[in-house]
Amino acid sequence: MQITEVRIKLMEDPSERLLAFCSITLDDCFVVRDLKIIQGQSGPFVAMPSRKIMAHCPNCGCKNHLKANYCNQCGRRLPQETAARDEQGRVRLYADIAHPINSTCREQIQQAVIQAYQLELKKAQQPGYVSSYEDVDIPAPSPHLYPSQGSSTPSARQPRSQVNTGKSTSEKRPPQQ
Ligand SMILES: [Zn+2]
Repeated sequence: MQITEVRIKLMEDPSERLLAFCSITLDDCFVVRDLKIIQGQSGPFVAMPSRKIMAHCPNCGCKNHLKANYCNQCGRRLPQETAARDEQGRVRLYADIAHPINSTCREQIQQAVIQAYQLELKKAQQPGYVSSYEDVDIPAPSPHLYPSQGSSTPSARQPRSQVNTGKSTSEKRPPQQ
């Protein structure tokens, strides 16, 4: 297996432990996204894409986050002792979605990604730098453009025309027979 491309999105706050997001392409034909580069105690390391582990409510079967005390669906108190724990006895909250199954592969990914990360740091110092990583998430709206709900009443924010349109459509509806 060859890692044929690495794309990096550097985080803007250098004080955070999350340094960058990245994607890797394997053998020019398979892409894995959402790997993270995290600042560890002995330098940056690569974390595989992961998801939050969910637990089914014993009462209604609804999925809840492991740390939830009560079911989001039925409100029943959730058992805590069933969660898997790591070697340190801490509750495992995340599971890798894609990951290497041997240390050779893990090392290969780590090396390729960290090398690309260091190159990206240099590129980012050039004027007109644009990240090659495609961010599919929608950015949070700017607080200047969208005032929070507390700053204006719902009736003041609702456009008058929208209220009128709703009324006229109901008036145009043919009478029931
Ligand atoms: Zn429930």
